[in-house]
Amino acid sequence: MRLRVQNINLDIISVGGLYTVVQLPNYKVAIDLGICPRSSFNKAHVFFTHTHADHISGVIRHCASRRLLGLTPPTYVIGTEDAENFKSFMAVAGKLVRSDMEYKIEVVSPGDRVDINKQLCARSYRSVHRAPTQGYIFFELRNKLKPEYHGLTPSDLQGLREAGFELSAEIETPLVTYTGDTTIDVFHREPTLQQVKVLITEVTFFDQDVDKTEAKKRGHMHIDDIIDNPELFCQPAIVLMHSSSRFSGETIQQILEDRMPKDILERITFVPNDAPLDGF
Ligand SMILES: [Zn+2]
Ligand SMILES: [Zn+2]
Repeated sequence: MRLRVQNINLDIISVGGLYTVVQLPNYKVAIDLGICPRSSFNKAHVFFTHTHADHISGVIRHCASRRLLGLTPPTYVIGTEDAENFKSFMAVAGKLVRSDMEYKIEVVSPGDRVDINKQLCARSYRSVHRAPTQGYIFFELRNKLKPEYHGLTPSDLQGLREAGFELSAEIETPLVTYTGDTTIDVFHREPTLQQVKVLITEVTFFDQDVDKTEAKKRGHMHIDDIIDNPELFCQPAIVLMHSSSRFSGETIQQILEDRMPKDILERITFVPNDAPLDGF
């Protein structure tokens, strides 16, 4: 499902437990490949939040299809805890499907930075789930003149540059984050999540059959987690996904309208779990 929020293009499909794929088409970036839609073939960087099947199952098709289409080997970004299993899995998968499975791997621990291109980088942080999970914040990169050089003439600046001074510093501006599967705890722990323009996160449960406490035990968010912690959801845009297939998209939309405080609701875009899989 294609969305445009805060001038950022997104393409998201997600059903809790079944599949999740989050894509930033303008940057050729995907995060998680629970399945592998055709639209992900041109994504050269794939960030994995964790290795549950609904977040990683599409990786074989992605890797093999890029090779078949003559595209460059993809870069897979994965947490330290899963790196060795990932490499073994890809080696065996390559033998099974008789493809070389060429790819690059970047192994990350919380806080690590991954450079995507000159305009964009990502940093990982620890989410809270039943498997080792990291969310990612994507930062726009800009070089800005250091404050101490403000007000100098172009020829002064040129002179300093020629004398070997570094006049500008890189500024990271947080754009968008995707938490992966998580409990509410990550929002208490990571203040940067309140500074992004676009928050993409999960809400798996919406009624009292699985309440807030039980949702947390299962490593997920409940709608009450947002309602009870409005100060953590101050971002200009909030994208909710990964809802359980027990609820129809229509039912969830109604629950959101009935229960979510208005000032949060007007910033929410909900990705229904029954949205069509365009171009799969
Ligand atoms: Zn999941
Ligand atoms: Zn999971």
